[in-house]
Amino acid sequence: MIVSATEMLKKAKAGHYAVGQFNINNLEWTKAILLTSEEQKSPVILGVSEGAGKYMTGFKTVAAMVRAMDETLGITVPVALHLDHGTYEGVKACVEAGFSSVMFDGSSYDIDENVAKTTELVKLAHDNGLSIEAEVGAIGGEEDGVIGAGECADPAECKRIADLGVDMLAAGIGNIHGIYPENWAGLSFETLDAIQQQTGEMPLVLHGGSGIPDEMVKKAITLGVSKVNVNTECQLVFAKATREYIEAGKDKQGKGYDPRKLLLPGFEAIKEEVKVKMELFGSVGKA
Ligand SMILES: [Zn+2]
Repeated sequence: MIVSATEMLKKAKAGHYAVGQFNINNLEWTKAILLTSEEQKSPVILGVSEGAGKYMTGFKTVAAMVRAMDETLGITVPVALHLDHGTYEGVKACVEAGFSSVMFDGSSYDIDENVAKTTELVKLAHDNGLSIEAEVGAIGGEEDGVIGAGECADPAECKRIADLGVDMLAAGIGNIHGIYPENWAGLSFETLDAIQQQTGEMPLVLHGGSGIPDEMVKKAITLGVSKVNVNTECQLVFAKATREYIEAGKDKQGKGYDPRKLLLPGFEAIKEEVKVKMELFGSVGKA
């Protein structure tokens, strides 16, 4: 069931668990995540970056595929189709294309311009029934080619953006995208605590969830994180399972070259990874 992320995140915040955002790249990814959500009776957010949208030939293709698949598979759990790290133009395109949620990443603008653009897009999203996420303070690592440094957001700026009526707020707390370096300093729980005190009931979003130690993720959830984004881990398990299949020569046995067979181990690996994350976030059985 495709819905905005508003209700599922309010429930998660009140229930002290988090909903996973799993990024999709193609049909196999989407099917694996939808089926696992239904099996685990967990709400879910399907994240689509602008790069992934482009790869799948545009947001309209993505929305049509996800909506049709959700219906055909008979998915009953709440599913939000969410633009990840959207530009101003990307948000408008996703509202048009039939997404149910968007993120506007105005973190590269100065705070006044971020506020002005976020204000406009909150109205656009809400007028069309979508939920909207905003970001304060760049999140480190690579976001579609943009490298940030893992900074911590200013809690007062978080409060300013939260008060614009966004449904969820991403704030840098030392987290980064991609694979964490050996010398990573860890999450700043002090910053997270200060942000939560300023923003109250606002569901907070932890980006770069792949590779953060489980105990840190759990602690972040107790401090108000209600959405955790996972992308890299699904990519890694998919690549590993596919490599093992080919290295074992299975593509050369019988019709092992059939893409439906070739991509099956990767599909199963994503399903298992998503299940493990849902258990960690506490969202199993919450839908
Ligand atoms: Zn992110």
